[in-house]
Amino acid sequence: MADGPLLVFGPKSLTYDFGPRHPLSPRRFGPGIELLRAVGAEPGLTPEPATDDELEWLHSPDYIAAVRRFSADPGGPPMAGIGPGDDPAFAGMHEAAATVAGGSIRAMEAILRGDVEHAYQPGGGLHHAMRSRASGFCIYNDVALAIARARRDGLRVLYIDLDVHHGDGVQALHYSDPGVMTISFHESGRSLFPGTGFVGEMGEGTAAGTSVNVPLEPLCGPESWLAAVRAVVPALAAAFGPDVIVSQHGADGHVWDPLAHLSLTTTAIGEAARLVDRMAHRYGGGRWFATGGGGYSIYRVVPRVWALTWLAGAHREAPRLLPAEWRACWEGDAARWDDAPLPEGFEDAPGVPSDRSISAAAAERAEKTVLLVRTVLVPALLRVAELRGWRRFDGSVTNPPPSATPAGEAPPARPGEGQAESAVRLLTLADLDSLFVAPRVIAPADPAVAAQILRAAIRDGAVAVGAVSGEWLVGVALAAPASASGPDKGDDVVGVDQLVALGVAPGWRRRGVATAMLRALVAEQNRRGRALIALHTAAERDPIDPLPRARRREVAERLAAGAGLTAAPVPPHLSAADPDARLAVRFPPGTQALSGLPPEI
Ligand SMILES: [Zn+2]
Repeated sequence: MADGPLLVFGPKSLTYDFGPRHPLSPRRFGPGIELLRAVGAEPGLTPEPATDDELEWLHSPDYIAAVRRFSADPGGPPMAGIGPGDDPAFAGMHEAAATVAGGSIRAMEAILRGDVEHAYQPGGGLHHAMRSRASGFCIYNDVALAIARARRDGLRVLYIDLDVHHGDGVQALHYSDPGVMTISFHESGRSLFPGTGFVGEMGEGTAAGTSVNVPLEPLCGPESWLAAVRAVVPALAAAFGPDVIVSQHGADGHVWDPLAHLSLTTTAIGEAARLVDRMAHRYGGGRWFATGGGGYSIYRVVPRVWALTWLAGAHREAPRLLPAEWRACWEGDAARWDDAPLPEGFEDAPGVPSDRSISAAAAERAEKTVLLVRTVLVPALLRVAELRGWRRFDGSVTNPPPSATPAGEAPPARPGEGQAESAVRLLTLADLDSLFVAPRVIAPADPAVAAQILRAAIRDGAVAVGAVSGEWLVGVALAAPASASGPDKGDDVVGVDQLVALGVAPGWRRRGVATAMLRALVAEQNRRGRALIALHTAAERDPIDPLPRARRREVAERLAAGAGLTAAPVPPHLSAADPDARLAVRFPPGTQALSGLPPEI
């Protein structure tokens, strides 16, 4: 058996069976597991049912009791989402659904023990199940339970949902936990089940900003979809700093899937899986639990997506051609179930999908959605770092952490005697050679990378004010030219800078340090005759211990007012997504107000 993710599958996986005509059929396991075997994957964890105690981490006792009743007597009256339709009752449904959940929980435990780096349950990913309701072919939310298992050990979890449907159950079950970030890419709820997953669903309270949704229009195609994944996942992973990655790799985004319309290819879906693997190694200590998900072209598409997902975790390229024996074995069934002819390769040939399956308007719309998601949910420093070439977060390469920075040691959690004071001053490159950047001052989560970005910013002419305490940089305020549409086009907004970072290390907060830094920054802007604009969104928060959203907004308003900035109207598309977003501006004495705001704030 080749090295690769621990494969979770056993006889009980086949019992999750809504009946012969239901789209989520256990028939998918035949061709799927056989193709996995052909690329070297052998089942290594045989799932058994999760206990009721485990299910109760996220599901209500009443709901579990209802599922047990249907399990014993499928003829009961419909309730809790179970009945005729998406989630029909079947004998043994509790054991079947609890087995999928048990597989995901046990897989996560193998990862947490360090037995394996990666694990993969192709029959998992039942992401629609809610606390007290079955939904969208899902009874118990195995993938949300795997996340809950990691949370019980105190790990911070990044969840990436690549299924064509919104990962609504996983989002809802962790909506108020700032230690779980969910990112879902899906066909818009305007055209597809479950009808949710809009950008404005961002998490609540202290967790505001940790629920991320990228809704895409039908026919957006593989290039737009992959561009969205690349534009959103790596930057958010860098900002959030997860300890473990969980991902759902539904195959239903594919152009041949009968239930949805994004027109993806196995080539794009496989590349997204490899990107998730890179994120796990870069940010999650290699810890990665992947599941399957939807997928209703169960001969032509699902087996290839399962194999490509496993191969991504095995760090192996896919073979070019599907094994001839595998195709010979399954082409009869494929034809019988109207899912033929079988393709020749793992990755789709050019021309799949055809031009008619992709809409330029949908692709254009996807770009706008990605820009909105980034503006409200990716910290400004990371967005501007990418725009101005200070650092890339596109996931195309594994960015090694920089080594030659003195930020490796942790500073004291609280300032000691004589250390409580910090001096506020303009920062130079020489300062960064002699100072340690304290954790959680500015994005990203890794202070070594923060130091590297600061260095590149100052070299590029950005204005940086720091708060220095001993050998620690415990506060930063940073301004850089506001860009109309990216520096490559050379159209910085004349005479206008944007505030790209303002942060103070935990032990030094609530002492007026941020106000003093922002005032010093404004004084320097006045001296240079440049305006300053500051946009505050849900992205700007301490990833470890964030304040409630309303409190963050109040702090931003108070800081802006204290430094002489004036509140300005937030562009409507931003405030629609993030009602707590705030914009403030400051013009140097004697200059005119702006006529319009740059779109890239
Ligand atoms: Zn890996």
